[in-house]
Amino acid sequence: MDAGHTSKGYGTICIHYLQEKNRTLHEALARNTWIKDLDLLHPSFSAQLIIEFVQLWRTVQRVNLTPHIQDEICWKFNESGQFSTSSAYHAQFQGAMSTNFNQIIQSAWAPPKCKFFSWLAVQDRIWTADRLSARGWPHNPTCSLCRSCPETGNHLFVDCRFTRRIWAALSFWLGEPSLHPTN
Ligand SMILES: [Zn+2]
Repeated sequence: MDAGHTSKGYGTICIHYLQEKNRTLHEALARNTWIKDLDLLHPSFSAQLIIEFVQLWRTVQRVNLTPHIQDEICWKFNESGQFSTSSAYHAQFQGAMSTNFNQIIQSAWAPPKCKFFSWLAVQDRIWTADRLSARGWPHNPTCSLCRSCPETGNHLFVDCRFTRRIWAALSFWLGEPSLHPTN
């Protein structure tokens, strides 16, 4: 599949997981060749991507090509339609929510190693089981605290029943209702 699909808003999923990146649109659509080109065993191919893949499949079925007209490459992340590294950089942050976590971590009193750990945690870069699994590295998939849920960064810091008790205790200790897990 060529980069022309970026104009339909689905290029990101495809281009990352395509094993053959130089097909024309016509070649990719013929007998659903683009599906055979997908690397479904890619370590980061997630359930969410499967959902997007099915949506893309439905969309592709409605594509009608006009014979004898060349594919055009269209970059959808700026108005000119031309690729630029700055637009690619800013595209990574589309849909992201800005937070002041970095500022809070920097200004808080805490040993440097705790600040560093917090900085990794807010970026979901702690080596929890889900991230180790995505890289095919040895791991215990279950949370070591509750021993019942998959271990992810979000589970460890937010959802785990033991973590929720800590947040509740902190909320009570500091008199800060917004820290309570129900809030
Ligand atoms: Zn847990």
